[in-house]
Amino acid sequence: MSESRAVPPLLSRMVAIGAAAAALLMPSSLTGPASAAPDAPAGSGAAAEPGYYLVTSADRQPAVLAHALERTGFDVLEGPMDHGVPVLADPAAVARLQQRGLSVQYTGPLYQPVSRSTRADTNTYYGGYHTTAGHEAHNTQVSTAHPDLVKLYTIGQSWLKTQGRGGHDIQALCITKIQQGDCELTNTGRKPKFTVMSQMHARELATGELSYRWIDHLVNNYGTNTDVTALMNSTELWVIPIANPDGVDIVASNSTRPVAQRKNAHDNGCTGTGRGVDLNRNSSYHWDVNQGTKCDETYPGTGAASEPETRGIQNFLATIYRDTKPAADFSAASKSTTGAFLTVHSYSQLDIYPYGWTNQLAPNNNDLKAIADAMARANHYDVVHGDGGLNYFAPGATDDWIYGQLGVPGYTIEVGPSSGSCGGFFPVYSCVNSFWQLNLPAYLAAAKAAAAPYPTGR
Ligand SMILES: [Zn+2]
Repeated sequence: MSESRAVPPLLSRMVAIGAAAAALLMPSSLTGPASAAPDAPAGSGAAAEPGYYLVTSADRQPAVLAHALERTGFDVLEGPMDHGVPVLADPAAVARLQQRGLSVQYTGPLYQPVSRSTRADTNTYYGGYHTTAGHEAHNTQVSTAHPDLVKLYTIGQSWLKTQGRGGHDIQALCITKIQQGDCELTNTGRKPKFTVMSQMHARELATGELSYRWIDHLVNNYGTNTDVTALMNSTELWVIPIANPDGVDIVASNSTRPVAQRKNAHDNGCTGTGRGVDLNRNSSYHWDVNQGTKCDETYPGTGAASEPETRGIQNFLATIYRDTKPAADFSAASKSTTGAFLTVHSYSQLDIYPYGWTNQLAPNNNDLKAIADAMARANHYDVVHGDGGLNYFAPGATDDWIYGQLGVPGYTIEVGPSSGSCGGFFPVYSCVNSFWQLNLPAYLAAAKAAAAPYPTGR
């Protein structure tokens, strides 16, 4: 059963958000069409653009309504449903919702104003966010400049690359003070490993930028910053900055109005952002066929690990981490487990720990939660597991896979608020500064835990 504490923190967070942000959370149009959106920035043309809405029904509970909307192709978002089902919709989708007799309430624009003077190049878009090519150039640059601290690997291929249609390799960096035997693709190295992965959901723009800054923070502060030096002397810090490079290419294909592509680019006959497979529902642990049909945002694919991105990432993680957990879901991982894993998503300001496929407590629950609590002391996000009080589960997600399959503690951070200019999928680029200040210490807390994540064994 759900822990009762899962709901109150969300409510308390909403209360604590502050008057300005809370005002944005409140419905500003009771039943109005998108063209009536009064919060649309003047002159931005936002009325004709997609935005965030809360959808309610006179006779259906939000969870039931969310399920029905998801089944019929609406982009239902993962967030609190206290005031209705959060949906990302363009004017056509809003019209379809209204035709069903549903109440549709506008809460804010998808896009923030982007300075027209910001020069678009092949490495950045939308005010400074890095494209896949920008990340690749950065990965090459830091590994070339710091051969004593960084090794760059290819760990898999994107779907388009496997089809011979362009695409990308999936890259991973290992960052540490490299001694003999460090940063090899084996699970026998002497240092514990902490892995950060980002932008598996391509439209979650801020997450890739946090990896970019994490990489720079490590390589630029070794030998001068005490915390960073100690960490790099003791731990292998792996980073997969772009887990879904084809998806990020789609997102960045419009440099001022990013495309809201969540899934990979697997061509399955669906139009627009319906194309693709949700890589965070495609893992081989509790893969669930019922997560959605092929055009849905949570479509899990034709089978467990059907996607090359998933296989590359799973194979990589299974290569560098020891398996310390019996296969049974509720058999505990060994107290001698080392390592930790963090997959970064946006948004909702949550620190999420296993399991995400069930509300039953994981066998290492006390130790798993202790690390999430340490992260939360840094970023002040709510700590949740299971359905997080939100009435949706995430079977087939990477964090569950690495814990359930290998015994390595796996976490998700949902970066950023749900409203305001730093809210949603496409925050103003300068918001990355505040996200970084808030989450760097959370990353450090998780990284430090990699040495001995299960001290109590419970
Ligand atoms: Zn996500």
